Amino acid sequence: MKSVGKVALIFVAFIFSLVGYLYIKTYDTQEHLSDNLNKLFLSHVKAIARNIDTYLHRYLSYDIYKTLKADEKLRLKLQNALEIAAADPHRYIYVLYRDPHGRYRYLLDGSHEDKGFFDQKLDVDIPMWDRAYKSGEDQIISHKDSQFLAITYLHPLHFGNRVEAILAIDFTSALPRTIGEVLSPLRDIFLYIFIAFVLLVLVLLYQLYLYLVTKKRAITDPLTNVYNRTFMKGFVDNLDPHNYAILMIDIDHFKKINDNYGHKAGDFILKQAANTIKASLRDDDVIIRYGGEEFLVFLKHPASDADVLKIAERIRTTFEQAKFIFDGHPIKVTVSIGVTLHPQRYRTIKEAIKNADEQLYSAKRGGRNRISYKEEALKKEGDEMISMVKEAIENDRLFCHYQPIYNIATKKPVKYEALVRLEVNGKIIFPGEFLEQIAFTTVYTQLTKKVLEVVFSAIDKYRKPISVNLNFSDISDNVIYQNILETLQKNSELAHYLTIELLENEIIEDPDAMRERLHRFKELGIAIAIDDFGSGYSNFEIFRHLPIDILKVDGSLIRELPESKISLSMTKAIMLFAKENGIATVAEFVENREIFEILRDLGFDYAQGFYLSRPLASLDDLH
Ligand code: GH3
Ligand code: MG
Ligand code: MG
Repeated sequence: MKSVGKVALIFVAFIFSLVGYLYIKTYDTQEHLSDNLNKLFLSHVKAIARNIDTYLHRYLSYDIYKTLKADEKLRLKLQNALEIAAADPHRYIYVLYRDPHGRYRYLLDGSHEDKGFFDQKLDVDIPMWDRAYKSGEDQIISHKDSQFLAITYLHPLHFGNRVEAILAIDFTSALPRTIGEVLSPLRDIFLYIFIAFVLLVLVLLYQLYLYLVTKKRAITDPLTNVYNRTFMKGFVDNLDPHNYAILMIDIDHFKKINDNYGHKAGDFILKQAANTIKASLRDDDVIIRYGGEEFLVFLKHPASDADVLKIAERIRTTFEQAKFIFDGHPIKVTVSIGVTLHPQRYRTIKEAIKNADEQLYSAKRGGRNRISYKEEALKKEGDEMISMVKEAIENDRLFCHYQPIYNIATKKPVKYEALVRLEVNGKIIFPGEFLEQIAFTTVYTQLTKKVLEVVFSAIDKYRKPISVNLNFSDISDNVIYQNILETLQKNSELAHYLTIELLENEIIEDPDAMRERLHRFKELGIAIAIDDFGSGYSNFEIFRHLPIDILKVDGSLIRELPESKISLSMTKAIMLFAKENGIATVAEFVENREIFEILRDLGFDYAQGFYLSRPLASLDDLH
C-alpha cells in the first residue's frame, strides 16, 4: 500500500511538472521566436542600409544638403532608388538632416505614402537621432508593441569626416502576432489542463482525507480514543507473537464508581485510565479497549520478562498513586493486570489473550490491585521438551505403535489404534511424557500433522482400519483440517479405513463449525469416535450436536467393572444410551478375562487392552 502511494505521488508530481513545464515553455518559445525574428530582420535591414549608403556615395560627396537643394533631378533619381528598396516590411525609407536649429528635415523620402517633401520638418525621437549624429554609429529604436515588430533603424551617412545626414528605415512585421496567435491556444490548453489537474489533485486529497478520517473513526473507541475491537481483529490476525507481550488491564470495582458518582464519572475515569496507560507505554505499543473497563495492551519488543513486569508494575503504581478529580470529588482507582509474557508459546494469539484474561482473573481473586502471570511460561524444561519433540519430528524419529481393537463376538482384531511414540537417544518416549508440555505450541501442530502422515501411509500400505487420536482443537485448526482433506482428495479410499477418536477435554469454541467439519469427514467415509467417555468432562450433550459413530468408554470405568457397582451401572447407562442411538461401543483397558466377559454380557461391540493384545510395533506381520 505504501509503495502504491509512493508511485502515485511520483506520477502526480511528474504530470504536474510536465504540464507546468509545457506551459512555461510556450512562453519561452514565443520569446525565442520573436528574438530570432528580430535578429533576422535587423541583419536584413543592416544590409539594405549599407547598400543604400554605398549607392548614395556614388552621387554625393559632401555638403549634400546644398547639392540636393540645387539638383532636383538628382533628388528625384535618388528618391526613386529609395522607393525601390522600400517594400514590405520596411515600407518607410528616408534621409533626414539636422538644420542649424537642431530640427530634422527631409532630404529624401522613399516612402510610398505620406511622402515628406524636401526640407520638410519631421518630428522624431530627438535623443536617439542626436545620438546617431554624435556617435556616427547605427541606432535602433524599438517601438514597444508585443503584437508587431516595429523598429526604426538609424544609419548615419558619413561624408568627409562628419555625419551629414541620417538614413532611417522603418520596418514593421505582424509575424510575432501570428506566432502569438498560434501559440496562445496551445498555452491556454496547457493552462486548463494544469488547472484541471490541480483541482483533481485537490479532490483526491480531500477524498483521501475523508477516507483516513472514516477509517480512523472505525477503529477508534470514541470515549477513550484508543483502538477498539474492530481494530483488534485486523491487528491480531497479522501479528507476529514473537514481537509482543500482552497485558490485560481491568479497573477494580469499577461498578462502584458508576454507582457512587454516576455514569459520567465512570466515563471520565475510563478516559483518564486510557490516558494513564498510554502515558506508561511507548509509541510502538498498542492499546485496545477490550471491554467496558478492560484494556488490552500489546507491548512491542520488550527486552525481557522483567521489562514486561516492570511496565505492568509501573501502570499499577501509577493508578494507585493517581487521584482523578471528577466534579470536585477525588476518585481513587486501582487496576489488576494479567500478563502473557510469551504469546508465541500459545498455539494461537487468541489463546495467548485468553491466558492474559485468566491471569487477570487470578489477580482479581488474589485481592485486586496486583499483577499476575504464569511462572511456568518461564520454565526451562518446557522449552527443552519442546525443542526435543521438534527435533525428533524433524529427524523422522516419530512413529506409531498400533493397539489392536477386537470384535468381541468373533474375538478377532478388526481395527488398530495408532499411538504416537518418539525415539530420543535410543529410548522410546510416550505421549504422556511430552503432550502436555507441547500443548498450545506450534510443535503440537507439527506433531499432529506428522502423526496423520504416518497413519495415512500405514493405511495406504496395509489397507487396515486405523484410528487416530485428535482433539477438537485439531479439527478446528485450519492447517490440520485442510491437510486431512488434501490427503483424501489425492486418495479418497483411505477415508474408509480411518477413524478419528476425539478427546473431549476442552470446550468446543465454535460448535457449528465443528459439526460442519465432522459431517464433511463422515461424507468422505471417516468414522468419528468419542474417546475416554465417562471420565472428566464427558457429557451426553455432545451427541446432540455432533455426528458420532463410536463411543469408547474410559478405561478407568472398565478397569473397575468387577468391583465397583457405580462403575458398572454407569457403564450400563452408557451402553443403553449407545444401543438406543445406534452408536457402536468400545471398551479400553481390558486387562483380564473377567472384564472381557462382563463386557460381552453388557453387549459391547469392541474391546482393546493387554488381555487381548499389547500394542504392535508394526503392522507388517498381519498378512
Ligand atoms: P472487578 O474489580 O471485578 O473488575 O469489578 P468491576 O466492578 O470493575 O467489574 P464488572 O465487570 O463487574 O463491572 C464493570 C462495569 O463497567 C459494568 C458496566 O456497567 C461498566 N461499564 C462498562 N462500559 C462502560 C462505559 O463505557 N462507561 C461507564 N461509565 N461504565 C461502563
Ligand atoms: Mg473491573
Ligand atoms: Mg470487568
